[in-house]
Amino acid sequence: MGSTENGHSVGRQFGTLAVHAGAPHDPSTGAVIAPISLSTTYAQTSVGNPVGAYEYTRSSNPNRDNFEEAIAALEHAKYALAFSSGSATTAVVLQSLAAGSHIVSVSDVYGGTHRYFTKVAAAHGVDVSFSPCVEQEVEQLIRRETKLIWIETPSNPTLGLVDIRFIADIAHQRGILVVVDNTFMSPYVQNPLDHGADIVVHSVTKYINGHSDVCMGVAAFSSESLKERLGFLQNAIGAVPSPFDCWLAHRGLKTLHLRAREATKNATVVAKALEASPHVISVNYPGIDSHPQRKIAVKQHRDGMGGGMLSFRIKGGEKAAHLFCQYTKVFTLAESLGGVESLCEVPAAMTHAGIPRDQRETAGVFDDLVRMSCGIEDSIDLHADVLQALDLAVAAAEKNGSS
Ligand SMILES: *Cc1c(COP(=O)(O)O)cnc(C)c1O
Repeated sequence: MGSTENGHSVGRQFGTLAVHAGAPHDPSTGAVIAPISLSTTYAQTSVGNPVGAYEYTRSSNPNRDNFEEAIAALEHAKYALAFSSGSATTAVVLQSLAAGSHIVSVSDVYGGTHRYFTKVAAAHGVDVSFSPCVEQEVEQLIRRETKLIWIETPSNPTLGLVDIRFIADIAHQRGILVVVDNTFMSPYVQNPLDHGADIVVHSVTKYINGHSDVCMGVAAFSSESLKERLGFLQNAIGAVPSPFDCWLAHRGLKTLHLRAREATKNATVVAKALEASPHVISVNYPGIDSHPQRKIAVKQHRDGMGGGMLSFRIKGGEKAAHLFCQYTKVFTLAESLGGVESLCEVPAAMTHAGIPRDQRETAGVFDDLVRMSCGIEDSIDLHADVLQALDLAVAAAEKNGSS
């Protein structure tokens, strides 16, 4: 398990940790970059006495250890555990609960998390209550069996924010743990453990790896009992990432701070351009003053940064939203987020199509909502791309609508 207990990371700033945490020189060759350790098994000198720290790759592996150590340092955690996807991370956290447990969750969680809660966790006797405004409702929703409160902030795709400290204070009075899915912000923009969360989870597939070429997840926390329970399940369930994926994700992680700053800069430019456009109904972006929970962003996010994700409602309905995503030339029409390349999609028809319309619309996910993941291209090109696609899409939708 990766841990920051050896203390070399204390006091260092984010960029220094991103580059150096969990990245020791190879002691035998001096290699500055760790080799990819593909061996599945490790020699023992006598029965039960392995040559080094390793026995079998599912239980632990040097590349996974290095990655986990880096994440623990960046999330201000003592421990981190890597998994084969963000979804596997969620599954293991949920599997750690006894049958009969209850969870309170924000309603607009990631679609796969919603599916796991309702279709898989339910089958092993874990019940989930969803709340569209968890700060107001959490006290009424808590039961004697409540073991976890699951928060995603910002939410997907409407970028609503939750005050982590407020929820953690209520939860901790009752011995309940708080989990924050920090995928949208990345550890550079937000560190949930600093605001009272007990476990932070990520889809590493997004910002942490950052290059749209690895599927992986991670959980970070500081409690010894969580280390025992979740570490046991990591090995027992075996949903572990490959050494190669750990190595790639660790390489991506080393530039997270640079990428997160560029993505925020670009999303801010795009959000302001959208807000000023006559073709746009409304913009959801926590980095600008029009966001209804901007105060929480200022409190929870590094320098009040908004991150790289935003969404907006286009005039001209579903048709205009679909055409907008076809007419962009720098933004690629695709699901997922957090890579160096900019992406756009229509949640109602793609990532959130599985949620019934009335529930979707209550959460603000209308047919005309477009979600954008701003990459690290030059902002001038992203800005121009958005404006040209808006003009074309709205004009085409109007023409179509009047015929
Ligand atoms: C993508 C995503 C997940 C799931 O992660 P996978 O790596 O795709 O399994 C969970 N939460 C959020 C917020 C995500 O964006």
